[in-house]
This record gives sequence, structure tokens and C-alpha cells, in this order.
Amino acid sequence: MNIQENISLKNHNTFGIDVKARFFVEITGLVQLQKVLELKAYPKKFIISGGSNMLLTKDIDALVVHIKLKGISIVEENENFVEVKAMAGENWHELVMWSLDQGFGGLENLSLIPGNVGTAPIQNIGAYGVELKDVFVSCAAMEVKTGELEGFDNEACEFGYRESIFKNKAKGKYIITSVVLKLTKKDHVLHTGYGSIENELKDKGIVHPTIRDISDAVIAIRRSKLPDPTEIGNSGSFFKNPVISRKAFDKFIKKNPNAPFYEVDDDQFKIPAGWLVEQCGFKGKRFGEAGVHEKQALVLVNYGGATGKEILDLSKKIQEDVQKTFKIKIQPEVNIIK
Ligand SMILES: Cc1cc2nc3c(=O)[nH]c(=O)nc-3n(C[C@H](O)[C@H](O)[C@H](O)COP(=O)(O)OP(=O)(O)OC[C@H]3O[C@@H](n4cnc5c(N)ncnc54)[C@H](O)[C@@H]3O)c2cc1C
Repeated sequence: MNIQENISLKNHNTFGIDVKARFFVEITGLVQLQKVLELKAYPKKFIISGGSNMLLTKDIDALVVHIKLKGISIVEENENFVEVKAMAGENWHELVMWSLDQGFGGLENLSLIPGNVGTAPIQNIGAYGVELKDVFVSCAAMEVKTGELEGFDNEACEFGYRESIFKNKAKGKYIITSVVLKLTKKDHVLHTGYGSIENELKDKGIVHPTIRDISDAVIAIRRSKLPDPTEIGNSGSFFKNPVISRKAFDKFIKKNPNAPFYEVDDDQFKIPAGWLVEQCGFKGKRFGEAGVHEKQALVLVNYGGATGKEILDLSKKIQEDVQKTFKIKIQPEVNIIK
């Protein structure tokens, strides 16, 4: 096993923050991972996959374990469904493309989400009306303390909006090593009602879309709206959309009658965080090397030389302004590594 020292993580996080890992190792096998967890010489470990959901604010004084476990296989199938097992280090979008090549439905709305398969359950990735939990069967996770593998089914993961047990009570305790997803082989359930998918299909003259058409539409919309991290450092949506009670919503909407919102249930309303940030005047604003994207107020960007702390400070300023203006707390979706 090749443990390297003082490795820059600039190319391992999509914000492009230049911090160093005290030690760094790449993991390609489960036994190797178990051995690394046993190493007494490196008591502190930090797990990294695609680096697309983290803001690194300082050097990592630990052994950074880069998960590169690979492999995709079919573990069960009948004439209607298939269960696909993908190892944690597979790229998420490549898995989506693979599933479409096989004619399997379920992942098309989740096209082009950066990052790896093993991290998808952590925040229950979601986009365009679909969340991972809709297709998720189970995952295997190695306990950091013992090196033992455990299984988590859909219920055990305690999925919520950008939430799971792995972000809450099991935070830092497990390394997800593989994920099993249930996909359709026929009679695919299409989700076209969210965002501008319908418009995109209409523009192309598509009346009866296939799963591939939906994926293509999602990819086109995402490319037009979201900055490409290879061109400008970012971590996608920096904040989660706040969910507020009916009482708070009634007050809010009275003061802001033109505000967009989604009714989650009778007592819960989701307000787009991007709208709140934009109303506070941050959209397109640059503060040194850090800034807020010109097309999408929810995306904080690194113009090149920003430190993690500069981006963190900007995010705190945005939170404070939104709180002051709307009396609404917005929370980061991105994992802040302090
Ligand atoms: C341009 C852009 C657009 C995005 N759009 C979306 C979107 O539409 N929807 C959405 O939900 N997300 C979106 N994201 C966020 C991101 O893509 C997802 O959260 C993704 O699942 C992160 O995967 P990753 O492999 O990059 O995780 P990383 O950033 O490597 O890790 C995230 C966290 O998980 C921990 N971790 C890493 N690997 C493991 C593992 N195997 N086991 C346990 N813990 C681990 C890390 O320590 C860290 O705390 C977007 C990001 C970008 C940059």
C-alpha cells in the first residue's frame, strides 16, 4: 500500500481549494481498506471520494483515504426489475449512463450529478423530482472502528431531504463500500413534471419521451444552469432549501407575496434558498477570489485562488443577511471540513 505524504488536494475537490493532506492513500480493494483502518500509525482518517460536496478550510492533518473501489454487476433480476450493485468508487454519472445503455430506468433524472456512487446515499442525492431513495435497495458500509462490513436497507438509512443516517447519528462512523439500486426493465416511470424538463422536451419536438430523452433533457438543462467545476471551482448548491412551518410561512408570504415556494405537506413549506440569496443582492457578486455565481445564486464559486475560509466567510455573510432580511435560517448542503 502506497501511503504518500503532503499531497495537495486541489485536484481532489471541485471547489479547487489548495490544501494539503498530511498523508494520502488510494483504496482499490476491501481487504486493503480493512488494513488501512487497522493502521495504528495513522489514527485519524478522512474519507474522500469525488470531492464534489465538501469545502476544505484547512490542511487535513490525517490519513486521507481516497475511495476508488470499482465494479458494476447485476445481483438479481426478473422480467420487470433489475438490482444493480455498484462499488463506491464508481463515478455516479457513468453509472447513470451505463444503466441507460442497458435500457434500465430510474436514474435518468439524476444524470450529471458529480461525485461517486458511495457518496450518493450520504445526502440522498436528488434532482428534477427524483431522489436516490426512490431506487435505493441497500448499501454496504465498513465500520471505521472495527473494519466490519454492515448492511443498511432503505429504512435503516433514514433518508430525508439531502439527509441520511450517514450525515447524522452515523456521521464519520462508516465508509460506504457499495450500493444496490432497483431499476426498471420495462414500463419505466417517467418524471417529467419538475423544473423545465417538459419545456426542453417540447422544444425538441418529443411527445413520447424515452428514459434516454429525459436524461438528455436533464443534461442540457444542467449544462445551461450550473457552472462546470472544471471551469470554475464550485460544489453545486451550497445551501439547502429551507423548510418552514405554516405559521412562519404565513408571515413570510404576507411580506413577500411574490416569493416562490413548494408545499411539502399541510404544515411545511419549502422556500428556494437561491431566491432568498438573490433577493439579498448576492447573485453575481464577487468578493476577492470568492463569489456567488452570476446565473445561480445558490452556487458559491472559487474564481481561482480562494481559500476555503474565504468561501466559508462569504457563506456566513449570506446566512446572516438572509436571516436578517427574511427571518429564515439557511443551512449549508456542502460538508464544511474545519
Ligand atoms: C456542479 C455540481 C452540481 C451538483 N448537483 C447536485 C444535485 O443536483 N443534487 C445533489 O444531491 N447533489 C449535487 N451536488 C453535490 C454532490 O455532487 C453530491 O453530494 C455527491 O453525492 C458528492 O459525492 P462525492 O463523491 O463527490 O463526495 P465527497 O465530496 O468526496 O464527500 C462528501 C462527504 O462524504 C464523505 N465520504 C466520501 N466518500 C465516502 C464513503 N464512501 N463513505 C462514507 N463517507 C464518505 C466525505 O468525507 C465528505 O464528508 C452537486 C455538486 C456539484 C459540484
